[in-house]
Amino acid sequence: MSITSEVSEAGVTPGPLDDARSQLREAATILGYDDGVYNVLATPRRELTVSIPLRRDNGDIELFIGHRVQHNLSRGPAKGGLRYSPDVTLDEVRALAMWMTWKCALLDVPYGGAKGGVRIDPRQYSTAELERVTRRYTSEISPMIGPGHDIPAPDIGTDENTMAWMMDTYSVQKGHTVLGVTTGKPVSLGGSLGRATATSRGVVHVALAAMRSVGITADGSTAAVQGFGKVGRHAARFLHDEGVRVIAVSDQYGAVGDARGLDIAALEQHVDDTGSVVKFTGGVEMSHDDVLESDVDLLVPAAVEGVIHAGNAPRIRARVVVEGANGPTTPEADLVLNDAGRLVVPDILANAGGVIVSYFEWVQANQAYWWRADEVESRLAERMLTAWDEVSAHAAALNLPLRTAATCLAVQRVAQAAQLRGLYP
Ligand code: NAD
Repeated sequence: MSITSEVSEAGVTPGPLDDARSQLREAATILGYDDGVYNVLATPRRELTVSIPLRRDNGDIELFIGHRVQHNLSRGPAKGGLRYSPDVTLDEVRALAMWMTWKCALLDVPYGGAKGGVRIDPRQYSTAELERVTRRYTSEISPMIGPGHDIPAPDIGTDENTMAWMMDTYSVQKGHTVLGVTTGKPVSLGGSLGRATATSRGVVHVALAAMRSVGITADGSTAAVQGFGKVGRHAARFLHDEGVRVIAVSDQYGAVGDARGLDIAALEQHVDDTGSVVKFTGGVEMSHDDVLESDVDLLVPAAVEGVIHAGNAPRIRARVVVEGANGPTTPEADLVLNDAGRLVVPDILANAGGVIVSYFEWVQANQAYWWRADEVESRLAERMLTAWDEVSAHAAALNLPLRTAATCLAVQRVAQAAQLRGLYP
């Protein structure tokens, strides 16, 4: 029986879990692993689905479904974000948990992979309602989490407040404060300096290295960024700071562009004031497709999965694509982009800055000893650039695309750890 038919809830339309398994299948084939090893690596270790009743501010009761998936624990406790989105499905969470396993192995942080999700549109609920949803979800999944078990972090639709509520709920249940149960917390509550911008800093470190590798210098180059949330927004700013002209950005509501380069500080102010990039007077309105298909040196998809697919891949013109989001490129689109000579820096490398500084936050919280911002930044840069060097050297040596090389390196590390531990019983 194939793994997909055994455990996937996917229908006929391929989704992120199909993409994640297809990438794993390719790596397992290159590494010479048999079906037994593939099946173990393709299947989550543990999953918990919980129902979350919410008493709304007006007294009505609503019910939400939440998941926590631990994909693999061979290299250490599970680590992965928590997503609040109306589009959350169990298969999406499974895919994201698998990518976390590869990301942690690739960056050599001592974790396995996990992910959580609640099917809710957070924009429709008050802060007090979101706090109640978060606390109930945390309480329901509390048997699975803990500093030595599974450590959640922010993702789409969640933030440092969510992590503070989770940490508090878990701590109240334990009877003492456990700072190491979540990362991405506020700095005044055991968070790490540099965590809020770490994913974006990492994206920009590898984006500049990738551009250099194909002869593009940052100063005067052009970029488009899809998504203006926690990852896309800071990435746009750091690119701008490096002299890159960011000529197009989008969020879920719309898109704006300016061929001379957007004034990112002014755009950030506009987003703070209005909640969206739409109606920014320092640029012209664009379509979502125009952003992805911009004639730029660098494209940073930093929103959701599957946005670069077989249908639009032939129209992608960026020389370098750096995946700020998880799973933005489908395997079919990957083939098109590779054939067209586009350099795609895969998610498990490009957006790993967040989990690296989450690891630093966990280390600091567990030791109750806090690092300076410059220590965090330099250690982050060193790890990102080391991983870039490893992946690009492996890709060149084996004549593989960066994603295949990165997945092979990561899968091999996880498989080796699993083999050394042996099977119980
Ligand atoms: P976020 O909720 O802070 O921001 C998401 C942004 O994407 C918002 O601006 C939203 O409007 C926009 N968006 C959503 N759908 C869109 C669409 N179809 N077109 C254009 N824009 C759209 O989330 P985030 O934390 O920035 O996460 C973005 C991506 O980065 C996700 O794939 C996430 O898994 C990944 N990621 C996040 C982190 C992190 O530290 N936050 C780390 C690694 C990877």
